[in-house]
Amino acid sequence: MINPESAESADTPICSAKGCRAAAVWVLAWNNPKLHTPERRKTWLACEEHREHLSQFLGVRGFLKDVVSLAEWEARPGAEDSAADR
Ligand SMILES: [Zn+2]
Repeated sequence: MINPESAESADTPICSAKGCRAAAVWVLAWNNPKLHTPERRKTWLACEEHREHLSQFLGVRGFLKDVVSLAEWEARPGAEDSAADR
């Protein structure tokens, strides 16, 4: 890839870690019980490198609910709902 900027297109999911532009491989589903109803899921995307870091960040706060591969997440029913619910 010649120009890394072009990787940040709308339909390429990018890792949510600060400053990271790697393609996302994992979806971290989380919920902050102080802000969200229990069934609600917020999602962070993570590349291979940041999955650990991001899930720890959510894990120590007790927010982390689920870690699934992006492919698996997109195959789940209702995945579009949570994606639109930022
Ligand atoms: Zn990353």
